[in-house]
Amino acid sequence: MPKKSLNILFASSEAVPFIKTGGLADVSGSLPPVLRGLGHDVRLILPAYPEALDRMVRTKEVAQLRLPGHHETVRLLEGTGENGLPVYLVDAPSAFQRGGNPYLGPKGVDWPDNHRRFTLFSRAVTAVGLNHAGLEWKVDIVHTNDWQTGLVPALLNSEWQKPASVFTIHNLSYLGLINYPAFSELYLPADLWRMEGMEFYGNGSFLKAGLAYADQITTVSPTYAKEILTGTFGYGLEGLLQYRSDHLDGILNGIDYDVWNPATDLHLDHRFDVSNLDQRVHNKRALQREFDLPERDNAMLLGYIGRLVDQKGADLILDILPRLHTLGNVQMVFLGSGNQYLEKALREAQFHFPEMVRCRVGYDEGLSHRIEGGCDAFLMPSRFEPCGLNQLYSLRYGCVPVVHATGGLADSVVDVTAETLKNGTATGFSFQNADPDGLWYALRRALVCYQSRPDLWRAIMARGMESDFSWHKSAKQYQQLYYKALGGEPRV
Ligand code: ADP
Repeated sequence: MPKKSLNILFASSEAVPFIKTGGLADVSGSLPPVLRGLGHDVRLILPAYPEALDRMVRTKEVAQLRLPGHHETVRLLEGTGENGLPVYLVDAPSAFQRGGNPYLGPKGVDWPDNHRRFTLFSRAVTAVGLNHAGLEWKVDIVHTNDWQTGLVPALLNSEWQKPASVFTIHNLSYLGLINYPAFSELYLPADLWRMEGMEFYGNGSFLKAGLAYADQITTVSPTYAKEILTGTFGYGLEGLLQYRSDHLDGILNGIDYDVWNPATDLHLDHRFDVSNLDQRVHNKRALQREFDLPERDNAMLLGYIGRLVDQKGADLILDILPRLHTLGNVQMVFLGSGNQYLEKALREAQFHFPEMVRCRVGYDEGLSHRIEGGCDAFLMPSRFEPCGLNQLYSLRYGCVPVVHATGGLADSVVDVTAETLKNGTATGFSFQNADPDGLWYALRRALVCYQSRPDLWRAIMARGMESDFSWHKSAKQYQQLYYKALGGEPRV
């Protein structure tokens, strides 16, 4: 018998192709279409940032909402993405019509009214979820993501007739903290401010609200789901997460195989697949030219892409650059932006090692594809990593990942050992201790393999390229979870 088709409202503060600052946008843009492919009516809801308004097609106003604590009437716009995915935009110009980053002002610090902006967004999501927007669409599941939508499960909780709620943790370290005066500006139910609710060591946390009230909690890899139950990774929420562990699952993110496909990728000079890996060297040369590095085929070209924050461990790479330099015949390119001290340190490294290191400070989608398609290996020494997407893109592009074995990195990269080589499962190099020596240990092994065993290196590349990290399997796990949130497996 076929399974019941569900109405799912997928709420996120960013989604490809509308607006992106990190992996949350990739997931929010790529999971809903796959769930639709499974027969569910999934609709995405986002704040109406200028970029999102520009990119939505067939836009029309479908409702006007009056939301507590907000003086403007909020317009609900409906349209579709370029792939036909139905999308709602919450149009509140005073909150979302601003240039730049969705969370940060021009000086790189949080917008001071983020608590008001994302409370407003959460109230709009709740209104649609409760069918209070007059859309004649009865929602079964509201799927919320990270602190920006953490209030939604809390607001739904006090309602009688309500959809089930799922809250996905993409990164537990962003707690969405507010103090009590800020909380009192929000006209939220007063009883949210208690230990069992969103109160968090004297402050409040939007993320904690999601964890406390959602019917089901997920995070983006099985290993991270275990790690966050410990004091090292739990950010003070490990107690609550242990308490709710019967409702906590880890589902590994997939990637969009249409966008990240080296055989069709228009960002690459030369497209390739596992049957014509020789083409890759042309991309490597093009990348060396683009970064103004000496064009050397036999130099091992390493890449890094990511936000420049402590989490990602770019400082560990910077630390081992002098050691790498003594080895010779290695090149390293960085693409990222974030903390000013890390941006400065990258520029200094480029100055000290002009033949070896190049950095591009900024955000550049096309270059991120060219790095994956041209580098020999990809470094991801994250101190913690809920899932991580770049190692998945690297695997797909034959750019062998060198990773700290944590979270989703541990779940997706199979370390090269005598045993994994023998059984043909090895896809990369990993290390246990997130420190420069740990990274050095893994990178040395990778270098030796690259330089002395090209046959083996190719086999590792090929194995990674053939691994399946499409959404197919994970979307089915979400489907199971939605049925669980609804209390069973309803059938039509
Ligand atoms: P996080 O969400 O913690 O930033 P993920 O690895 O899950 O990390 O996802 C990061 C996403 O953002 C990837 O798609 C990555 O390619 C992209 N990205 C990060 N920094 C940049 C950049 N400077 N330029 C282009 N893409 C970037």
